[in-house]
Amino acid sequence: ALLARAKADTHGAFLVVNEEAALAAAKAADAKRASGAQGADHPLLGVPLAHKDIFVTRESATTAGSKMLEGYRSPFDATVVARLNAAGTVSLGKLNCDEFAMGSANENSAYGNVRNPWDVTRVPGGSSGGTAAAVAAQLVPAATGTDTGGSIRQPASFTGTTGIKPTYGVCSRFGMIAFASSLDQAGTIAHSAEDCALLLSAMSGFDERDATSVQRPPQDFHAQMLQARDGATAAQPLKGLRIGLPKEFFPAALAADVSGRVREALAQMEKLGATLVDVSLPRTELSIPVYYIIAPAEASSNLSRFDGVRYGHRAAQYGDLMDMYKKSRSEAFGPEVKRRIMIGTYVLSHGYYDAYYLQAQKLRRMIADDFQACFKQCDLIAGPVAPTVAWKLGEQGDDPVKAYLADIFTLPGSLAGLPGMSVPAGLGEGGMPVGLQLLGNYFAEGTLLHAAHALQ
Ligand code: GLN
Repeated sequence: ALLARAKADTHGAFLVVNEEAALAAAKAADAKRASGAQGADHPLLGVPLAHKDIFVTRESATTAGSKMLEGYRSPFDATVVARLNAAGTVSLGKLNCDEFAMGSANENSAYGNVRNPWDVTRVPGGSSGGTAAAVAAQLVPAATGTDTGGSIRQPASFTGTTGIKPTYGVCSRFGMIAFASSLDQAGTIAHSAEDCALLLSAMSGFDERDATSVQRPPQDFHAQMLQARDGATAAQPLKGLRIGLPKEFFPAALAADVSGRVREALAQMEKLGATLVDVSLPRTELSIPVYYIIAPAEASSNLSRFDGVRYGHRAAQYGDLMDMYKKSRSEAFGPEVKRRIMIGTYVLSHGYYDAYYLQAQKLRRMIADDFQACFKQCDLIAGPVAPTVAWKLGEQGDDPVKAYLADIFTLPGSLAGLPGMSVPAGLGEGGMPVGLQLLGNYFAEGTLLHAAHALQ
């Protein structure tokens, strides 16, 4: 039934529907359940899902939303995909995203826009826009995504879904096409904290093929989510939970619908026993320039591998080797990717490195320290995910800075490598969903999921 829905997708969410592989995986899951073999009772056995097209897969092409990788077929599966396959999930195919995950609206994909299922004249958010739209349109119950500066939380917020980005290093980046390696992290978008917990448990864990993968035993995030807090009661499951509200996340200019829904969700959490405390993240605004120096710097380095030689698009006609590089890259990269490569190359160049890149790195450390100061006063931090609800397709025209500025509330947590969630908080302007952002300290996914679950 879901294959039929996926094939009839009118939102531009699916890039590939892999019917044959999906049916084979579903049959294998049935056989496993019937056999009673190890894993036959796994809660994800036979559950259909789909993957953001930034995870490489053997069963179908992987494009990262770029013309550069059109038709590219990986000889291996990304670790996240392999682990979900091993749990018995059934992948229906690959989901649209911004080119190399650069964007906030899925308007930067070489394979077309994705439309928001709540209002098809609006964007679904990005860069995991296909993921969010596929879940919101009920084409799949859950899907994978990646979050470098907000790309799981913001599309979840724009589509009324629940998304989690774990602590940097919890999910392996092996086989996830790199954008900004020190920030990229895999996660998931689903309909509930509970579904997110089940998927994250299966996706995560140490992987020796990713040097930044965290060495620790496998985690049961679902059990952590259900774990009752000390002193909690049925009516007050969040008793004793201190939620920090950074004043910088509630500026006077914040859209009334967004601040209204977020405040209502916070009042609900108070009813559930949580206490609200005022905190400050004084360098919130600086996270925009810091991120838009560091992320393009890393991207310019990561994307140098697409040279027209080893993989990817190669120009049909060229002169010497330099000309081949130039033509291949000029033809196949979209405008936003080119912009980031130019910014990144500039800030890393001799003479500018100290002025921009090094300064940004120092500020990144201070932003992370600011969070640690906050976590002395609270267990979780809350605020909006994005300053507005989903905007209209094409509304931002060709001003990329507008989109960059809208990342203000997701970038600080990304720069610090912290886990974060977006939880639906009701409807705002135009009947569009508003998300509540919850941020935790390192490895506090269990607390985050517990709080989100209590709200739902
Ligand atoms: N919007 C941010 C960017 O364009 C974040 C993207 C992401 O998290 N992948 O870089």
